[in-house]
Amino acid sequence: MNVEKFLSKQHKLLIDGQWVEPKKPDTHPSINPATGEVISEFAKASAEDVDHAVEAANRALSNPVWATMLPNARSKLLWRIADLIEENADELAEIEMLDQGKPRSFARRGDVAGAAETFRYFAGWCGKLYGKTADLSKPGNFHAYTVKEPVGVVGLIIPWNFPLLMAAWKLAPALASGCTSILKPAEETSLSALRLGELLAQAGVPAGVVNIVTGLGTIVGAALAAHPQVNKISFTGSTAVGKNLLYAASGNLKKLSLELGGKSPNIIFADADLDKAIAGAAMGIFMNAGQVCAAGSRLYVQDSVFDEVMERLTALAKATKVGPGSLADTQMGPLVSEQHRNKVSSYVQKGIQDGAKLITGGSAIGNQGYFFEPTILTDTSSDMSVVRDEIFGPVLVAQSFEDFNEMVKLANDSIYGLSATVWTSDLTTAHLAAKAIQAGTVKINTGGGPDNNMPFGGYKQSGWGREFSNEGLELYLQTKSVIIEL
Ligand code: NAP
Ligand code: MG
Repeated sequence: MNVEKFLSKQHKLLIDGQWVEPKKPDTHPSINPATGEVISEFAKASAEDVDHAVEAANRALSNPVWATMLPNARSKLLWRIADLIEENADELAEIEMLDQGKPRSFARRGDVAGAAETFRYFAGWCGKLYGKTADLSKPGNFHAYTVKEPVGVVGLIIPWNFPLLMAAWKLAPALASGCTSILKPAEETSLSALRLGELLAQAGVPAGVVNIVTGLGTIVGAALAAHPQVNKISFTGSTAVGKNLLYAASGNLKKLSLELGGKSPNIIFADADLDKAIAGAAMGIFMNAGQVCAAGSRLYVQDSVFDEVMERLTALAKATKVGPGSLADTQMGPLVSEQHRNKVSSYVQKGIQDGAKLITGGSAIGNQGYFFEPTILTDTSSDMSVVRDEIFGPVLVAQSFEDFNEMVKLANDSIYGLSATVWTSDLTTAHLAAKAIQAGTVKINTGGGPDNNMPFGGYKQSGWGREFSNEGLELYLQTKSVIIEL
């Protein structure tokens, strides 16, 4: 489909296999963060629409079309979705670029290719879900076994930093496990999920198995989290909303997976390959304009190489090409919204007031769109909000450390524990760091995003549960023990 035509559509809600108007007709604008212009409008749902979608998902759960679909047929369905994503890759990347702001080539190579890959990865799991048999110790003759069953109706609430990719990260395991779902995209970036909804229908996903309800988090997200017929919420977003979900979900004790924020350390030892480490540090904080849950936003550099690293990193920050995602040479697009840019900017100002030294950046760029300079602050200390809080922008705080023990103390001095990166050429240092750092992922001498075959999630307040791999899939399944006396 042509992107212009897609944008000009009256986007509705996907419920029970139909595109429907919200019960109380209302719309919400989609804004291009590179221009501030409204590019499309989508339906703004209410709690009544959530009820409607949950009913459809519940019916679909017991509909034999879905409930008895053979594993290899489910697998083929997921492959078909991946194929359709690839067939429509340029268009999906264009939608993501216009709605989220990221460079078109990054959206194409990262978000869209990654989404297809995730559906393929989980397609492979459909026919590989096993229960176990067990020998019992109680007297008698028994045949005892476990079976894996879908957890039921799941609410999938996703953020705006990787909209299509996050939809895939949650929809693929939900489908592979046989769950039915209601997807709530972020209000800033709902368009790629709506286009994905069309592709899901084209792939043959049965009615009601995936429902897409757009609207506000405080209305649609909150209604999903509180709904008595939703069995699980899988959420990615801020720690603050994650904590709210605990209360909202308590009514029916629904299961929760929470992939929350981070303030991840990036650690450079003096013996590291500095070319690689400096490029990795820049990528770790400026990729996606720093709007990455696992962004390496706290830099710790061993003191003997601190000045050299800062000088070279500053040069890279200054050379980063900031601009609209539509230009081929853009490396960093705008922040997602005006509100978010103001938040990032006030964090930097507060850091400077608290005594941090601005090495480069620190300001909004231009009058059009929500651009912000790649920013580095030094002379920071662990009590500053710029060091403690997740800023979710292209803002790096840097500090030096003397030795391994000081590094561990600094790295672990955070409420978060999502990810960490360590650069060193010493194998012992690498292994000791991997062991000492409190984080769900520790990367040594490599940057980049997660892999479908490695569990991804947080220690401490970075979340509950894992995404990807069999561990991620398990969270969409429940175990039934069956005991038969023979
Ligand atoms: P957020 O408020 O946590 O939003 C994430 C998702 O939750 C969105 O779909 C949002 O809907 C929804 N939501 C909001 N309030 C809700 C509620 N009470 N109940 C249920 N769902 C609710 O995150 P944000 O406002 O987009 O960003 C704020 C900060 O969160 C960022 O600055 C960053 O620090 C962090 N963040 C982290 C990640 C991550 O990957 N871990 C991603 C994005 C943001 P609406 O979009 O309609 O509000
Ligand atoms: Mg937008």
